[in-house]
Amino acid sequence: YVDAHVVYVPVSKRHFLVMALLYDITELKEIERMQLDFVGNVSHELKTPITAITGFSETLLHGAMDDAKALKEFLAIIHKESLKLTDLVEDILSLAKIDANTELDLKEINLREYVTELLKTFKPQIEKKKIKIFVEISEDFFVVMDQNKLRHVIDNLIQNAIKYNNFQGKIWVEATSDAKNWTISIRDNGYGISNDKQERVFERFYRVDTSRSRDSGGTGLGLSVVKEYVAAMNGEIKLESQVGVGSKFIVRFPQTMK
Ligand code: ADP
Repeated sequence: YVDAHVVYVPVSKRHFLVMALLYDITELKEIERMQLDFVGNVSHELKTPITAITGFSETLLHGAMDDAKALKEFLAIIHKESLKLTDLVEDILSLAKIDANTELDLKEINLREYVTELLKTFKPQIEKKKIKIFVEISEDFFVVMDQNKLRHVIDNLIQNAIKYNNFQGKIWVEATSDAKNWTISIRDNGYGISNDKQERVFERFYRVDTSRSRDSGGTGLGLSVVKEYVAAMNGEIKLESQVGVGSKFIVRFPQTMK
């Protein structure tokens, strides 16, 4: 009640206010901690390839390049680590751009043509691993989408379906549609992901099998980039997977984009 210039807040209400304030601080602390973790992880991940590049190039310059075998071997390592660095920087830049909440650039896309075009960029990897890809999207499947963001999503999911697949593995790209939503799913018959790790693969820098993922040049950022782009387009991503059987990533978007 109000008495002259003093407002008396009932104890229970004051209690509530204090609690709300504490909650806000906790959330801010959590964001701050996550940002610090992110910066820490980024520095660590960047340092690993940089250390290798610096170390091996120095060894070469200090005489090792006179040995033809060492020259070839070290150059191959330097090249591989530079590629890893490129991937890492690209992923970090994508995350930074999404964080800045850029506006959607919407256009009508023929999904089948779009996916077929995108698959061409994977030709070397597909041929090397003798992977078969089946596109099950009808010819008149049109969606209104931010082409660039959608490309990041499909690109990353196909990349993973190839990377975490066996020699001569298979990949299916399917699309479905109803009155409210449309979905695109990327399924593989590769390694699969155990139940307890399925949530975690969307976390930044998380890798199921560190050594295997590193060998295939993983940064652990791909799926977190995918998740953020999907969210930016008001979509949802779901994962169904079984170890030794394969994985299916299902992405659902609303029919009408805002
Ligand atoms: P990375 O750069 O390591 O591929 P991602 O964020 O794209 O990072 O994926 C996180 C982890 O999830 C990968 O390291 C891998 O262990 C697992 N993963 C992702 N996609 C698949 C898939 N299709 N099949 C099996 N495991 C996968």
